[in-house]
Amino acid sequence: MDKWQRAAPPSPPNPLCYPSPRMSRTNLLDLLPDELEALAESLGAPRYRGRQLAGWIHAKGVTDLASMSDLPRDFRQALSERAEIALPALERATPSQDGSEKLVLRLTDGGRIQSVLMPDEDRLTLCLSTQVGCGYGCTFCFTGTMGLGRDLTAGEIVGQVAAARARLAPGARITHIVYMGMGEPLANYAATAKSLRILTDPRAFGFSPRRITVSTVGLVAGIERLAREGFRVNLAISLHATTNEVRDRLMPVNRGVKLEALLAACKRFPLPTRQRMTFEYVLLDGVNDSPDDARRLVKLLRGMRAKVNLIPFNEWEGAGFRRPPLARILGFQAIVLEHGITATVRWSKGEDIGAACGQLKEPVRSRASRGQLDERVAC
Ligand code: SAH
Ligand code: SF4
Repeated sequence: MDKWQRAAPPSPPNPLCYPSPRMSRTNLLDLLPDELEALAESLGAPRYRGRQLAGWIHAKGVTDLASMSDLPRDFRQALSERAEIALPALERATPSQDGSEKLVLRLTDGGRIQSVLMPDEDRLTLCLSTQVGCGYGCTFCFTGTMGLGRDLTAGEIVGQVAAARARLAPGARITHIVYMGMGEPLANYAATAKSLRILTDPRAFGFSPRRITVSTVGLVAGIERLAREGFRVNLAISLHATTNEVRDRLMPVNRGVKLEALLAACKRFPLPTRQRMTFEYVLLDGVNDSPDDARRLVKLLRGMRAKVNLIPFNEWEGAGFRRPPLARILGFQAIVLEHGITATVRWSKGEDIGAACGQLKEPVRSRASRGQLDERVAC
């Protein structure tokens, strides 16, 4: 057991916090503090009741209206008729030998997603999902084989933070958040953006935007919208190739928007001072890992405030790719470094539990006829 983990097993679902058949009730996790205030007002209470609610839900992590002791009973009663706190239910928590923990969460409609808690020295990072599955079909990504189930709501995205927080030992806290779980965050732009607002609002979760990273397959319209709307979070671009020919093969999204257009959008992105954009690059044996690739990568990133995150391919059964040998990975890194660009090798967390980058896939009923859960899971 690690010091950040709570000793006791997760408490059983609290019926007050879990989905009810009255699906039309508002999920309070979907609301910004201002909206909670407006909701309080609409119920005839003063606006500050909404601020108190935010304090309970976001700051204290309380998800049971009955425990919000400083709220008048009639207000809680009126609220419970209109709203609920629908936290994704923890179905399973799988610890990895490297200290990370995969959380399998069940949504109100039975859909499953995964979040991963990753401790690293004094950091505790939570990896969030934004969709059930993903529709972008990158050929090296296990999550991509699921196809798109559906978009998550903002409440379901921030609900993962609330569910993960409930796992922590007293005093432990999540320090960083990465949108690198299942799904493409910018394909679910509205919910992703709202979740970022809720997570960074000082009256709500209060995370610094600098401690949040959104990873994207490279949706130019979404990148531009993030810039226009003034989000100051870190951006990670899944690049993975240095020519259109290879990127077309690996990532169908590239057939519509070419590398040049993607990099031009990245160059236009107004990065805050001292911040760099991350370019993720999954290393695939014999596909994109040659010294020439490394040199082309350097050329593509010239003039940008960029850093490179090399991810040795996480293997999964049936994948048509292999991880390159260590010498090739380090050789690739050395070339990028020689040209003055920071390049780190990310040895994914949670490989043994199917929680590493691109291994996330939640048990789906593979085929009704087989009638069993496909246990090859992912976040
Ligand atoms: N959809 C977003 C975020 C989720 S994936 C995106 O694509 O950026 C998080 C990272 O893991 C991405 O860079 C993705 O390309 C990478 N990845 C996917 N499958 C992988 C695998 N099998 N091995 C290593 N990295 C993988
Ligand atoms: Fe989707 Fe990202 Fe996987 Fe591509 S790499 S299929 S965009 S989750």
